[in-house]
Amino acid sequence: MSLMRSLLLAAAQNQWLREHASRFWFVRGSVSRFMPGETLDAALAAAVALRSKRIGTVFTHLGENVKDGAEAQQVTEHYLEVLKRIRESGLPAEISVKLTQLGLDLSPDLCFEHLNAIVESAQKDSVVWVDMEASNYVDATLDLYRRALTAHPNVGVCLQAYLHRTKDDLAELLPLQPSIRLVKGAYNEPPEIAYPRKQDVDENYFQLGKQMLLAKKENRCVRAAFGTHDVTLMQQLADFASAEGFGKKDFEVQMLYGIQRSEQERLASEGCTCIVLVSYGDYWYPWFVRRLAERPANLWFMVRNVFAA
Ligand SMILES: Cc1cc2nc3c(=O)[nH]c(=O)nc-3n(C[C@H](O)[C@H](O)[C@H](O)COP(=O)(O)OP(=O)(O)OC[C@H]3O[C@@H](n4cnc5c(N)ncnc54)[C@H](O)[C@@H]3O)c2cc1C
Repeated sequence: MSLMRSLLLAAAQNQWLREHASRFWFVRGSVSRFMPGETLDAALAAAVALRSKRIGTVFTHLGENVKDGAEAQQVTEHYLEVLKRIRESGLPAEISVKLTQLGLDLSPDLCFEHLNAIVESAQKDSVVWVDMEASNYVDATLDLYRRALTAHPNVGVCLQAYLHRTKDDLAELLPLQPSIRLVKGAYNEPPEIAYPRKQDVDENYFQLGKQMLLAKKENRCVRAAFGTHDVTLMQQLADFASAEGFGKKDFEVQMLYGIQRSEQERLASEGCTCIVLVSYGDYWYPWFVRRLAERPANLWFMVRNVFAA
């Protein structure tokens, strides 16, 4: 892992920076590249614009590691409101939640109650996605995911290709007919747990992606979604899908708002299922710094903002 990426991922966890950096105007200015605004209305407006390009949306309200039950309850109620707004607007939209924002640090049972209430309220033909957080949460996340999936088929989970364990996790999930969003992984993990070299992560992603597509072909994977901006990987997986007889619509890519916009539009115009994850909310600091770590060149946007005043 590059030194800059490690430094940025450490900064994402730093309490002092978390409290202070988000007040600087040039930081706030740079964030707008990755999110349309802090409010749900701003996120909904972005989804309307994406719909006109045949791109679907997944909403996520930024936040993690909530410290008390009342806050976890508030987040749950917020997501129930988001689902209501999606139903009313008729937008092709879903949501993605972080379990530590629904109270996982407080009690797995409480967190499950919240997740269950959210999935019950979602439209049955849409998926509620569960994000994957740092490696110390993987077991608990998969446990709760399995519980939720037993009760409701319309719940999906994110798996991270940088983890050595993901191959086994995928194999254990497939008999349950899951929906899976495969990503590379955004946290700072040691080499005992995660592949340190980018080419190994990419290769593992490709192998896992092929398994997901083969499982989808046999109806063992309800949604096989590729959460990546890596154009080469996407093309390799699209070629594999096409060789296996999948139509364009059955090839699903999910990307983050503001990243590879032209690629998002190209995929959608070719008939692939293209979905953009739109984040909003005021707790954006750690999430934003993880975006910088994915591409340290993004730091230049911030530097340019300092001098643009
Ligand atoms: C829909 C979605 C959901 C996600 N959910 C999770 C999750 O639950 N848990 C988790 O750990 N991670 C999650 N991630 C983040 C993911 O793990 C990666 O950190 C992130 O997607 C960058 O990896 P990449 O696959 O795009 O490949 P990379 O090899 O990092 O990037 C490929 C190319 O994409 C472009 N690019 C990538 N990132 C950026 C950026 N930040 N700014 C500008 N250009 C960029 C660059 O051109 C780069 O060369 C999610 C990502 C997506 C798209």
